[in-house]
Amino acid sequence: MARLVILGGGESGMGTAILGQREGFEVFVSDKGEIKEKYKEVLEHFEIEWESGQHTESKILNADVVMKSPGIPDKVSLVKALVKKGVPVISEIEFASKYTDATLIGITGSNGKTTTTMLTYHLLKDGGLQVGMAGNIGDSFAKMVAEQDFDQYVLEISSFQLDGIADFKPHIAILTNITPDHLDRYEYKFENYIASKFRIAMNQDSTDYLIYDADDEVIREWLKEHPLQSKLIPFSVKQKLKEGAWLEDNEIKIELEHKTLEMSTDILALEGQHNVKNTMAASMAALLVKVRKETIRQSIQSFQGVPHRLEKVLKINHVEYINDSKATNVNATFYALDGIKKPIVWIVGGVDKGNNYAELMPLVREKVKAIVCLGMDNSKLIDAFGNVIDLMVETYSMEEAVKVAYKIAERGDSVLLSPACASFDLFQNYEDRGDQFKAAVKNL
Ligand code: ADP
Repeated sequence: MARLVILGGGESGMGTAILGQREGFEVFVSDKGEIKEKYKEVLEHFEIEWESGQHTESKILNADVVMKSPGIPDKVSLVKALVKKGVPVISEIEFASKYTDATLIGITGSNGKTTTTMLTYHLLKDGGLQVGMAGNIGDSFAKMVAEQDFDQYVLEISSFQLDGIADFKPHIAILTNITPDHLDRYEYKFENYIASKFRIAMNQDSTDYLIYDADDEVIREWLKEHPLQSKLIPFSVKQKLKEGAWLEDNEIKIELEHKTLEMSTDILALEGQHNVKNTMAASMAALLVKVRKETIRQSIQSFQGVPHRLEKVLKINHVEYINDSKATNVNATFYALDGIKKPIVWIVGGVDKGNNYAELMPLVREKVKAIVCLGMDNSKLIDAFGNVIDLMVETYSMEEAVKVAYKIAERGDSVLLSPACASFDLFQNYEDRGDQFKAAVKNL
């Protein structure tokens, strides 16, 4: 019996354990931290052997294959030892994809993955397809493969998941954009991070598709130097294209494999230029799996977006409060500031991942009337914007930040939480930060 060892007892670990057991592996789950109670129950239920709070090397190094959770970096000594021994160390999507014949749509990029994944899923589902959605969202892909029988999967895929693939081959890949993020996991080399994202297409052949943002210089340059087998399908909001999706007089135009689709941007339920791009990408994926044009048009209008991404919370005294807590990097915040047309009271800050605020400067000058810093250490923000914005206030809790913003904002303004930073200094995670924002706004 082949031995499957799973490092990390979280969502992807559980899914892999269940699928591995079903496929006849001898499964062992090991987590150096504490495994959550609900997952322990799953392991007990399936009678899968596990350990928590330690990695027992003798039970791990004898594996035939190891699935490593995306949270564990390659540089930890146990992973290095496995690699040195020649044991394949793979990710959950690699493992799960071996056990399904479904058509795979894989979505990656620095920003917009979740939105595009959910939108694509929504379009395919409305198109009547038997489709599952997995990846970083909800149930793991492996668990779905073990327990369900879908014809299509829409998968949100992080670069960490892509680092652990060998044969994974999506029929349709979407690359939303590439901007510096998570560089701590890539030896602080942007090149390495770009290469990791492009692994989504590395096993594709000429019958497969790569849908990508043609306005993204990083992607364009990389494609020039690294030719791929995949059929390239660009989208752009800046230029007209021969094939792909582009914008013309407020209309999205799609020309794809002799099909055409036109939609006014007025019908989109989501706001902002970035969501035009996400819509283009998702609509093209839907066309490729033969969802009808009319269904796509209708379905686009009914998609209500995803919490914590430019989510409208409330209007109080003609001031709009917007929760963009998921903006954990500068590029995501760029699109928030770009998309909002009113004067902005901007709540920003948290754990800085090596941010360069220069690209925000023109938008900040044009639109931001006050900055409310919300983080343990706001010095970088003050250095960057202190000379540009007259009113900057430091706060140390969400409640305080929202109260200060409320005082500053005037009729017709927007109060925007778009932190451009991770949340771990003051919050559990970005959801907690966004939820606290919404609660504080509702308490005003
Ligand atoms: P991800 O799953 O890649 O983190 P999300 O869909 O959760 O992406 O969005 C993360 C943040 O990026 C949000 O603030 C959102 O408004 C913004 N965003 C969404 N789509 C794009 C895009 N195509 N380009 C840039 N920013 C985007």
